[in-house]
Amino acid sequence: MSVTEKQFTAKGGEFLIKETPSQAVFTPEEWTEEQKMIAQTCKDFLQQEIYPRLDEIDNVKGNPELMPSLMDKSGELGLLGTSVPEEYGGFGMDFNTSMLVAEVIGAGHSFAVALSAHTGIGTLPILYYGNAEQKKKYLPKLATGEWKASYCLTEPDSGSDANSGKTKAVLSDDKKHYIVNGQKMWITNGGFADVFIVFAKIDDDKNLSAFIIEKEFGGITMNEEEAKMGIKGSSTRQVFFNDCKVPVENMLSERENGFKIAVNILNIGRIKLAASTIGASKGVIGQAAQYANERKQFGTSIANFGAIKHKLAEMTARTFASESAAYRAGQNIDDAFNEMIASGMDQAEAKLKSVEEFAIECAILKVHGSETLDYVVDEGVQIYGGMGFSADAPMDRAYRDARINRIFEGTNEINRMLTIDMLLKRALKGKLDLMTPAMNVQKELTSIPDFGAQEDTALFAKEKKVLSNLKKAGLMISGAAVQKFMQKLSNEQEILMNLADMLIEVYAAESAMLRTEKLISLKGEEACKQQIAMTQLYMHRAVEVAQKAGKEAIYAFAEGDEQRMMLLGLKRFTKIEPANLKEIRRTIADHISAKQAYEF
Ligand SMILES: Cc1cc2nc3c(=O)[nH]c(=O)nc-3n(C[C@H](O)[C@H](O)[C@H](O)COP(=O)(O)OP(=O)(O)OC[C@H]3O[C@@H](n4cnc5c(N)ncnc54)[C@H](O)[C@@H]3O)c2cc1C
Repeated sequence: MSVTEKQFTAKGGEFLIKETPSQAVFTPEEWTEEQKMIAQTCKDFLQQEIYPRLDEIDNVKGNPELMPSLMDKSGELGLLGTSVPEEYGGFGMDFNTSMLVAEVIGAGHSFAVALSAHTGIGTLPILYYGNAEQKKKYLPKLATGEWKASYCLTEPDSGSDANSGKTKAVLSDDKKHYIVNGQKMWITNGGFADVFIVFAKIDDDKNLSAFIIEKEFGGITMNEEEAKMGIKGSSTRQVFFNDCKVPVENMLSERENGFKIAVNILNIGRIKLAASTIGASKGVIGQAAQYANERKQFGTSIANFGAIKHKLAEMTARTFASESAAYRAGQNIDDAFNEMIASGMDQAEAKLKSVEEFAIECAILKVHGSETLDYVVDEGVQIYGGMGFSADAPMDRAYRDARINRIFEGTNEINRMLTIDMLLKRALKGKLDLMTPAMNVQKELTSIPDFGAQEDTALFAKEKKVLSNLKKAGLMISGAAVQKFMQKLSNEQEILMNLADMLIEVYAAESAMLRTEKLISLKGEEACKQQIAMTQLYMHRAVEVAQKAGKEAIYAFAEGDEQRMMLLGLKRFTKIEPANLKEIRRTIADHISAKQAYEF
């Protein structure tokens, strides 16, 4: 029996074992007029203030005042207070609207990084973990941009292993201050920040504690701006704390709660980063489509060449999948938040808990968004040909600026491992029943396939079957890997990467399909030709990735009969009907070329 919208409440990670009704997902086609106006304000800001000055902005050493002044201007428009509640001078927008802002600003190169570090990792620790006094003191100034924020977690010897930091906080003899000493590295907005969220260990604690440190406290010095591959306009400094006197009331939350704060804030950072990569991808698709129309070779626009159409279509379909998944998860977070509020939970706690619930999806989206963007910019350079390699054309900056997204907010390796780790932990805690569906898959494997089953002709019936099978493939291989390695599965990182790849593709492909299915129910099939084409194309990609990842995982840990059985299972669960992908891609590319923008 299929579930109806009303009966359906999404739970984190459950997409792997449950069918989601299309009516339950949010699609970006449903933005309200108000949300569209907010997006337009962001677009206008980029057009007027950022795009004309990209070179100036990137010369961060020559123009150190430029970025903070641009942030001030964006603050005047309210762009720094989107997530801050109205009582603290912000706009208290829902999660998906703040994702929309992140998406649009995401096309703003270094400015996007500065803004998101300030509004995200810089401001949110205070919003979600600050006490009433701290919120009252800091949030209004951060929401307007009067004070700018940065987040100091990473150290020279402590990157992915964030809890291993050496920065120390020692209580002063009069017990009024913590004396902070240590070195932080890669600190975004470091050069102009007034407020630093700093993670340090008190005495010999096992876990980090978090502090709000003002520049005015003194004892803070910095290295020069880092010379970077990309996002050159974003201030990135090493920050040194030398006997920095921090009032005890500036500890955030409780002693040793810092690592938890860092992790939870990063969950939000990851999904917002995904939104921002979608905006950047859309920008590049528009530019590449326009260039392909203008550039003539062999007497015709290069947009007329099949090889170029292939690229434009892939860039677009992958972005469509990422976008569908990001706002699906964003809405899940909003829904969970509203439910928690209705049950009497405090606002800040509900916001954190709702994002934590979908932490698996946040990690998936971070990887998918950043890798889609890297694919998009790489093909963008290729479409521009020699001009793609020129520092005077836009692809150069887009290509260099994209690359950081696979590194910060947890590297994509860490996020892939987290995806599987969090899924298994949820299962162990009884929050997600992976066992029953995994056992069912085992049973199905040993049964004879039902060749005589009547073909279901309902809309997307075949695609749904493909997805349900892909999930079975994922469950089959992860179930077998867990049985084989038990607690030691975490040592088998290559297999974890394979499993994560399968899951990421399932989530992205399913999100694209659900969005299209919902749109068809609203507008009819004829109006959704492009979305149907993108869904079909993406579905084939998902199957291909799952086949490769699944095979590699099986080769890595199964032998003999078990291996043969699993390979047969994988073949059975990764079947997809042939489709003329060339024609499908041409449909998408022709549309994009006509619009010269990612626009449907
Ligand atoms: C431009 C820029 C801005 C940044 N801004 C900030 C900021 O504002 N605040 C802040 O605190 N930090 C910031 N960072 C730091 C960033 O979050 C880290 O660079 C990132 O977390 C990776 O840490 P690392 O550089 O030490 O790499 P490492 O942890 O040394 O990783 C190196 C490689 O090893 C892999 N690896 C590491 N551990 C494992 C493992 N257990 N298993 C498998 N593979 C592993 C990684 O995936 C990576 O491929 C920024 C970094 C950059 C470059």
